[in-house]
Amino acid sequence: MIDSASRIGITDVDRDSFEFVAPRRPLAGEPSHESSLAVENPEMEPASLTSPGEIQMTQSDRRQFLVSTAAALAAGISLDQRATATRANTPDQTKRPDSPGNLHLAPFRFDVTPPMGHSLCGGWIKPVLAVDDPLEAIGFVLLGSGKPIVLCVVDWTGLLNEAHIQWRSALAEAAGTTPDRVTVHCVHQHNAPFACLESERIVLAQGDLPHIVELDFFRKCLDAGRTAIRAALKQAVPVTHVAHGAARVEKVASNRRILGPDGKVASQRGSSSRNPEHQRIPDGVIDPMLKTVAFYNGQRKLASCHYYACHPMSYYGDGRVSADFCGLARKRRQQDEPDCTHLYFNGCGGNIGAGKYNDGSKARRPVLTQRIYDGMLKSSRLLKPESIHSLGWTTHDILPPPDARFSENAILKQIQDTSRAVSQRNRPSYTVAWIRRYQRKIPITLAGLHVNNVSMLHLPSECFVEYQLRAQAAAPGRFVACAAYGDGGPWYIPTKEAYPQGGYAVSVAWCDPQIDGLLTGGIKTLLAAAKPA
Ligand SMILES: [Zn+2]
Repeated sequence: MIDSASRIGITDVDRDSFEFVAPRRPLAGEPSHESSLAVENPEMEPASLTSPGEIQMTQSDRRQFLVSTAAALAAGISLDQRATATRANTPDQTKRPDSPGNLHLAPFRFDVTPPMGHSLCGGWIKPVLAVDDPLEAIGFVLLGSGKPIVLCVVDWTGLLNEAHIQWRSALAEAAGTTPDRVTVHCVHQHNAPFACLESERIVLAQGDLPHIVELDFFRKCLDAGRTAIRAALKQAVPVTHVAHGAARVEKVASNRRILGPDGKVASQRGSSSRNPEHQRIPDGVIDPMLKTVAFYNGQRKLASCHYYACHPMSYYGDGRVSADFCGLARKRRQQDEPDCTHLYFNGCGGNIGAGKYNDGSKARRPVLTQRIYDGMLKSSRLLKPESIHSLGWTTHDILPPPDARFSENAILKQIQDTSRAVSQRNRPSYTVAWIRRYQRKIPITLAGLHVNNVSMLHLPSECFVEYQLRAQAAAPGRFVACAAYGDGGPWYIPTKEAYPQGGYAVSVAWCDPQIDGLLTGGIKTLLAAAKPA
């Protein structure tokens, strides 16, 4: 996301987490009854819940408030009615341990290509003039381990705040589950929609600014999502095995932040660069590994989730919609294996881009596509399916405060200033959206899907790569794959060490540096809920 730039009390609301262990055959001599699969830690209360500025509610009040607030918001009903809203975080129902065939997977996909003239990347770059290749939302519903679990990834720049909750709620409704069991991520291409409904209301009120996202198009996408999921559920197939692989990707990711001798960011190596210095300086801190987690029915691969941390843009700003190099690599794998649904998740790529290896010319897109594709292929060759013996879904809510640098009134004045460029008016609307969301105490839900010794973490926004490196380090015995770019409300999520270094990403990080502790703690909580393999 692109650039500009406030400290309130710490708030880490609701640290609720639970785990469900999926069906497994009882061991010899073990009693075969449902209690062996019962929900564990339905109220896992961490030690550090009382920090300054924390909302004074009981754990139960907090959970109910947050869950019902989000559901009420999504459903467009008043908070007074929230007691009757969808009750999320209800412990899973148990399954019989002697029925291992009841896990099912229902893949779905639907088109989310914006119409001609629609804003791209929030309206401050050229709108849609042509479509080089269509944008898709791809996912699957996992059935048979409590209420359905939905994973979905969208070829959009971002889905923020209420827009993200509406997506999760719509998919949840169609899948017959609750929004806390639905995770939606964006690949973060820039010639793509960048949806925030609060921002749309703010810019629309100005009367002279381009849309953030057009609501009729947005709703059509949600309708398409509901339809796709309902159709998919009718064709769910058994899922019996899981596999994982990881392969190094050559010459794509490079760290965007180049530090000077004073320890401050001296230069931003963007997604593309023609600066020879940017090409000469080493990669810096990256995660070179592309990871794959696949689900099978026996030996038949049903779904393959790929993860790599890097901004996915080769070039953009020309009005030509494309899934760009990461999405194109995914599409190629999809052509290779039409019977398997391929998903591509952008990892914690907030401070990562292809700038060292990309001059922004058209010729570089196929080159970068090939490198990601090669990584997917190499990773896929390492897949060794093993039967699923445990499956758990766990969530953890955080509510990081906005940075005190940002004043809503000052930003609104800036948005009203018609002498400014569109980017200097549309973009700050996202800051206001985060400030208002924080005031409404609507948290970000982190989630973890734990299958055998694999943990798939579902994280928000533009996390710096250090978060996924920490996640893997926190669970050395597990294969940890991180999908970021979930709820995009906070924009960039630097580490606390990165804030004093400055630079572009910090200038557009809406949250206070406390977000580091909240997110890192949340990641550890998710991983701690995983059963030892
Ligand atoms: Zn970005």
